[in-house]
Amino acid sequence: MSDCIFCKIVNGEFNTEFIYEDDTVAVFKDINPKMPVHLLVVPKKHIESLNFLEDEKLSGTLLQTVRKVCKKLGITDYKTLINTGKGAGQEVFHIHLHILAGGNFNL
Ligand code: AMP
Ligand code: ZN
Repeated sequence: MSDCIFCKIVNGEFNTEFIYEDDTVAVFKDINPKMPVHLLVVPKKHIESLNFLEDEKLSGTLLQTVRKVCKKLGITDYKTLINTGKGAGQEVFHIHLHILAGGNFNL
């Protein structure tokens, strides 16, 4: 999707610093953090929302990426959030998982 901000970010168009990246996902800081740690786990493939996520392998990869990134950063206590649909607060229509944590991490 050419006008999707998260497609542009995961394709490296903005030189965003990735906390983690592999062939299928990228993890970067939320631009407007709601907690001291606020990261977004974003698949490289454009999928509008959880309502359109039919790929079971990718579903697992997204959740395992949360686990891996938190382990790497030493974060043991965190919230994971997926907003689905405008009425639930989804603002960017490229699926993403929020990782939210307190504490003082040097990211
Ligand atoms: P949601 O409400 O679940 O769609 O979340 C969208 C999130 O993306 C919000 O927390 C925004 O602060 C964040 N966001 C929007 N644009 C950017 C950007 N360019 N870089 C990083 N985070 C962004
Ligand atoms: Zn996209």
